[in-house]
Amino acid sequence: MFTAKKLNYDVTALQPYMSEETLRFHHGKHYQTYIDNLNRLIAGAKYEDMSLEEIIKQTAFSIDDVSVFNNAAQVFNHEFFFEHMAPQGKRRPDAALLKKIEAAFGSYENFEKEFKSAALAQFGSGWAWLVEDDKGGLQIIKTANADNPIARGLKPLMTIDVWEHAYYLDYQNRRGDFADAFLAHLINW
Ligand code: MN
Repeated sequence: MFTAKKLNYDVTALQPYMSEETLRFHHGKHYQTYIDNLNRLIAGAKYEDMSLEEIIKQTAFSIDDVSVFNNAAQVFNHEFFFEHMAPQGKRRPDAALLKKIEAAFGSYENFEKEFKSAALAQFGSGWAWLVEDDKGGLQIIKTANADNPIARGLKPLMTIDVWEHAYYLDYQNRRGDFADAFLAHLINW
């Protein structure tokens, strides 16, 4: 049985870059629905006592448990996304990670550019991620719908939700403006 995690900040705290209305719908309705659906789907099933990550790994790319995967992954994705925003967030990573980002992408500014490009290039609903592979290498990837790095054996380090529900009330079709605001004013490393 999973319960929704509370936000680490007030629903008004990310304004004007993310409105109270967006957060109320996104956290209170969309995320809550994934939690409720997941609990309903795993009740009495073999997944009932597993951790979220275990459920995601076990159901990734399965044909029979697509709904379990979709809801479990969306619970994970949203918790990771909400945690990685803050009104007075850490706008730059720690020195060790910053060094790795600079080595992988040339500079932090270039990382921002490539992360935004991935967010824009995701066709339809999905996510852009900074991930670490099992050899410690960094990559920027995009995933569709609920798909996420855990399903692919990658470790997520940062994400942006580019489903329209994440930004449409505030930015309408301007996903790029949302990505810019996220990187400059919302990101919390
Ligand atoms: Mn979302």
